Amino acid sequence: MKILVLNAGSSSLKYQLFNRDNNEVIASGNAERIAIDGGLIKHKDGQGNKSEFPGNLADHSEALTKILEILVSPEQGAISSLEEINAVGHRVVHGGEAFKSSVLITDEVKNTIRDLIPLAPLHNPANLIGIEACEKTLPEVPNIAVFDTAFHQTMKPEHFLYAIPREYYEKLGIRRYGFHGTSHDYVSHRACEILGKEYKNTKIITCHVGNWGSITAIKNGNVVNTSMGFTPLEGLMMGTRCGDIDPAIIPFLMKNEGLSINEIDAMMNKKSGILGLMNNISSDHREVEEGFVAGKELETEVIKVYTNRILKYIGAYTAYMNGVNVIVLTAGTLENSAVERKLIVDQLEWLGVKLDEEKNNFRGEERVISTPESKVTVIVVPTNEEYMIAKDTYELVH
Ligand code: ADP
Repeated sequence: MKILVLNAGSSSLKYQLFNRDNNEVIASGNAERIAIDGGLIKHKDGQGNKSEFPGNLADHSEALTKILEILVSPEQGAISSLEEINAVGHRVVHGGEAFKSSVLITDEVKNTIRDLIPLAPLHNPANLIGIEACEKTLPEVPNIAVFDTAFHQTMKPEHFLYAIPREYYEKLGIRRYGFHGTSHDYVSHRACEILGKEYKNTKIITCHVGNWGSITAIKNGNVVNTSMGFTPLEGLMMGTRCGDIDPAIIPFLMKNEGLSINEIDAMMNKKSGILGLMNNISSDHREVEEGFVAGKELETEVIKVYTNRILKYIGAYTAYMNGVNVIVLTAGTLENSAVERKLIVDQLEWLGVKLDEEKNNFRGEERVISTPESKVTVIVVPTNEEYMIAKDTYELVH
């Protein structure tokens, strides 16, 4: 059984083709600059051989048609005919309160995803375009939607309500939704599988820290709280996002610097976080880390602001759950950076956590990095959102 996983952005279409019989990725790639001059498809076959296909891509349907041509081509191809694709799994960013799990896409589902556009104005329209491109190009194949928000739908009102007039929740749906759900879902389950723990009986904190970042508390199989909120802007400091700030800063800047709403929005999403505190030098953890290791003042301050924010959430979530059994580290930074893992884990001594320094010295694999005596197990689990989308898709069409 072959499953195509699609992640449609406003000008891109990422894909992975899975063979569910052995869980192997048999092809993957990205169509870039759709509807912009200089379109390009970057493709990788199952053996890791890379090839590039330049050529303008008028829209997502054309990009998908070209991707499918590559998938069946005798040279780069992974399958001999499109009939081998049994289902398509789509990453959809916002499912609001309507979707608590993945679903088979129908006209009604598409209408609901459309109704939710005000909550995800950049992402849901692109996701719908990806779905419609598949319906047009692969009319016989079922489409499944896997939502970034669905995993967090077990959160209770005491954790998802903001303390603003209740009518804004009731009328406009302003509440905490949380994002990166597919990643938190995958790494928390995988950690329990590796550690032989019962998911429904474990207190877990998952830390997804890459260019973007969020932290989730999961108790006995339910999400208690998560650091991203109504939008992905809340919570951790990120590459270019500010995360938590005093909301009163916004009217203050509008009054005193004459910034418009759009300028404030761009400042908080694109000019803040690491980039903002680094005086626009870089938004990448690696550069900050290099400076920190070399003892530079600016970088040391920035990395501390960053790790303090992570520690704040680990502390709060431990309190919310009245304890924690497993802390899972994932995504670009925490999968790869021994330095940043150590900065965080060394501050968790109060929880009885002990880091095994030797074991911590590695990149990008599944590994326990706490000592056997540690009261809380700290484990690195590389995230795999596409696998999770393929798994849900398989389960819904099988
Ligand atoms: P995204 O959050 O966009 O999905 P990733 O999870 O792939 O992205 O994370 C990419 C980010 O991970 C990079 O921007 C970089 O900041 C960080 N990163 C990658 N490798 C390292 C490393 N060795 N040390 C520190 N940070 C790293």
